[in-house]
Amino acid sequence: MAAATPSSKRPAPTDSSSLKPVKKTHWSQGLLASINDPNLIVESDDRIVIIKDKYPKARHHFLVIPKINIPNLKSLKREQSELLRYMEDQSKVLATKYPQNEFKYGYHAIPSMSQLHLHMISQDFDSPCLKTKRHWNSFNTRYFLDSSEVIRCLEERGMVVTMTPIAGEKLLDMPLKCHKCIYSPQNMPKLKQHLYKHLNN
Ligand code: AMP
Ligand code: ZN
Repeated sequence: MAAATPSSKRPAPTDSSSLKPVKKTHWSQGLLASINDPNLIVESDDRIVIIKDKYPKARHHFLVIPKINIPNLKSLKREQSELLRYMEDQSKVLATKYPQNEFKYGYHAIPSMSQLHLHMISQDFDSPCLKTKRHWNSFNTRYFLDSSEVIRCLEERGMVVTMTPIAGEKLLDMPLKCHKCIYSPQNMPKLKQHLYKHLNN
């Protein structure tokens, strides 16, 4: 029997498609792996990939991701507003497949994941992955920057103005409030129960 190779001398495991060594990456780089995951890809062309959000916060939650490297909103250049428009337009084309659903299109002011991604999210917020106040407030306060506002800002100012981390934390910590009525629940279980009243199923 051959002696086992000491782990320090073993070659790095390879990805069978490219035979490049598989490197361990930080979780914040996860979208870069997901844009190649056939189970998550919904649409793809030469400019963008639309994937399902791996932890959807509503019945229909997609991420629209440019193929060129754009780490975040701050790294956008004025001339890239046309790409943002294209991302929004393509997500609205996808929305036509879900005619019973209302969607919002926007960016988190302070994203957790690297590589620019536009959230396209149905307004039912009916999902087991929607658990915390931070989740809710990230889509239902000014923390969620509407795509059209981001594009307007980029065109007018040549850059996207977001917010400081402190301002972002304040928004995520705001009291819960229903997005459809004046109800202000004390906690997430109460809000989730209340949201069923607004579902048209
Ligand atoms: P944010 O960076 O805050 O704008 O949001 C990142 C989004 O990516 C969240 O809605 C997560 O549920 C989602 N997400 C996290 N990891 C992955 C992944 N590996 N693949 C797809 N979606 C992911
Ligand atoms: Zn309500």
